[in-house]
Amino acid sequence: MSAEKRSVGIHFDATYEKHDTGPHHPESAERYRVLESALQELPENFLRLPGRRATVSEILLAHEHYYHDLVYRDVESFAHQLRTGDTAICEESYDVTLEASGAVLAAVDAVMADKVFSAFCAVRPPGHHATATRGMGFCIFNHVAIAARYLQKKHGLQRVAIIDWDVHHGNGTEAIFIEDPSVFYLSLHENDIYPHTGPATERGQGKGLGANLNIPLPGASDGTLALAAWDAQITPAIDAFQPDFLLISAGFDARINDPIGGLHWSDATFAAMTRRCVELAEKWCGGKIVSVLEGGYNPAGLASAALAHVNALV
Ligand SMILES: [Zn+2]
Repeated sequence: MSAEKRSVGIHFDATYEKHDTGPHHPESAERYRVLESALQELPENFLRLPGRRATVSEILLAHEHYYHDLVYRDVESFAHQLRTGDTAICEESYDVTLEASGAVLAAVDAVMADKVFSAFCAVRPPGHHATATRGMGFCIFNHVAIAARYLQKKHGLQRVAIIDWDVHHGNGTEAIFIEDPSVFYLSLHENDIYPHTGPATERGQGKGLGANLNIPLPGASDGTLALAAWDAQITPAIDAFQPDFLLISAGFDARINDPIGGLHWSDATFAAMTRRCVELAEKWCGGKIVSVLEGGYNPAGLASAALAHVNALV
């Protein structure tokens, strides 16, 4: 395979610093700046991908129209919080979250056009707690859910797998696809923390039964439990599903010393999980992966774990 074909796309942009969450907020522009400068040091075989602004109709791939309008109105009225939940906003937040969703779609297009093998999008605000009708948990629009629908509607793919290793359960993504057999949602998360969803017993509903897998892990556990779950549950589940594309909700708040998460994963854990994703993607979907930043609130830890992740994508 040519060197060009194997290059990994990276997206980051100072525009995401404009989502101002106020003083002392863990999901801060500062955490992004530290990650951004780490990504700037990556060697040239990482191809920097441009972003773009998502259209309203793209947002509506995963969200109800009235919820989109509610976000717009809350931002326009200079509210400091989204009225649906604990999500700080500022006057730039609507534009920034459209840029974040659009950048993920641009990365999807780049992978589908074979410009890059896979891609990592460092965007904010995060997205995986946002349901079709409700922003919460620092999330406004659900970039990964929008991307999964976009892959199906724009690119005609049938089966998309989403692997979410943020320390929190991605309740929004799960809810959007809970009855959908064509999108497999799989979450590794710390047991019994915010948003208190994601039991192992939830395997999907209706036609989507079997296309949902939650792996709650005990607080303070290290990466060995997570990797054991990969081999026992995740790899067989993805093998059975045979995805056409792999999306990763890549939170780094399960890393040791995160101020919010209580798991003790190391950078090596993130690298090992990434290698397993690459192996699965190579086996089933020509290596096609788009990974999207979710949480991670220790700025230095976030940068270090994210670098381990993108280096393992190569
Ligand atoms: Zn999180």
